[in-house]
Amino acid sequence: MRLPQIGTISSAPLWGANLKAARYGCADALLKFHRMNPVQGMIRVFERRGTVDAKAAALEKLNSWHSRLLELSHRIHAHPEIGFEEVQAAAWIAKVLSEAGFDVRAGICDLPTAFLATAGKGPLCIAICAEYDALPGLGHACGHNIIAAAAAGAGIAASAVADQVGLTVKVIGTPAEEKGDGGGKILLLERGAFAGIHAAMMVHPAAFDILTPKIIAASMFEVEYTGKEAHASAFPEMGINAADALTVAQTAIGLLRQHILPTDRIHGIITHGGDAPNVVPGFTKARYIVRGETLEDLERLRPRVYRCFEAGALASGSKMQIIGGDRPYSQMVHDFEIAEHYRRNSESLGRVFPPANLQVQKSVASTDMGNVSLSIPSIHPMIGIQSLPAVNHQREFTASCATESADKAVHDGAAAMALTAIDLATDSALRQRLMR
Ligand SMILES: [Zn+2]
Ligand SMILES: [Zn+2]
Repeated sequence: MRLPQIGTISSAPLWGANLKAARYGCADALLKFHRMNPVQGMIRVFERRGTVDAKAAALEKLNSWHSRLLELSHRIHAHPEIGFEEVQAAAWIAKVLSEAGFDVRAGICDLPTAFLATAGKGPLCIAICAEYDALPGLGHACGHNIIAAAAAGAGIAASAVADQVGLTVKVIGTPAEEKGDGGGKILLLERGAFAGIHAAMMVHPAAFDILTPKIIAASMFEVEYTGKEAHASAFPEMGINAADALTVAQTAIGLLRQHILPTDRIHGIITHGGDAPNVVPGFTKARYIVRGETLEDLERLRPRVYRCFEAGALASGSKMQIIGGDRPYSQMVHDFEIAEHYRRNSESLGRVFPPANLQVQKSVASTDMGNVSLSIPSIHPMIGIQSLPAVNHQREFTASCATESADKAVHDGAAAMALTAIDLATDSALRQRLMR
């Protein structure tokens, strides 16, 4: 990568200055402004150069850590750990950040695989969220190794100019995003890890770049049915079939699908269906996820799905218990102004956001970053790894998450987030809004 020349005026603090007019203004407009108001014009030209210098310094720092970050991404990819068990991944990321000069606290908020890494002492505090959990049986089929390495890279790059532009940079290690109920960010939010943070960001790998993906609310819960075992042939009339309860519930859910919104989702798996075909199943278990466009939609749909499970209990005579589901993932409220900065920075690196086709529009997912976005201005762009036809949560996507495209996503995601962090610090109107 060719870096812009680093100038000599970058040592002055930039964050108090009004740079908005100058930063994206073309040379002609700057010259016109300069003629109308020579002193102000010169100040703005210098300020713009200062921002450019800060960005160049951040990119230079990122480049010096490039191979280390790719090694981190590949190592996490090769050693997948599921939610709340990401002991190695959390330690490896924390070590890189510590070596880069961050003050690292491991196991924050009583979560052994969470961490908080801080650099800089500026008044504007931004969080870059790292995820690093894998999927059971599929490894890193959601590419959280890329998220982790990009987050570390963004933090390291931004830390190079944090004090100069008035930033405190926090990389927060957020475990168990894939869990679906009470994910790491929800617990970290509840326990104060995001206190004092003015803006939060992360990138997530996907087949292609999407600036503001549609992220909907979701609730994951378990259902248990308890019936009574009996010999399935000799004394079937003595048994209470807990598997029948699940069959009735799934049939009822199938019928319910005609009467839900296109953005609603109901899906699940049976995690225990019985023990032997010649024993009437006395205990069965399922794990389900219900999703709606917003938390309100979710709360309207969830009781209707519960009634389908109750129907199974009623019809079979089993007892039903629902476990969990009380810490749903919320919809994502994107901060479009921050997203616009991310888009410009990302495009400046040569990335392209394809127009939102039908595939993009109908594709909806959920993340605990949604919960962060309800409290703190946040962005969650998807970063493309050119994996098609492979998509997230497929074995082929796992393979795509340690390729040249995946490595480029680590670099570009880190760079675009670091440059966006510098924009947040140096755009005085935006900075003021975030710090209000
Ligand atoms: Zn996923
Ligand atoms: Zn994911």
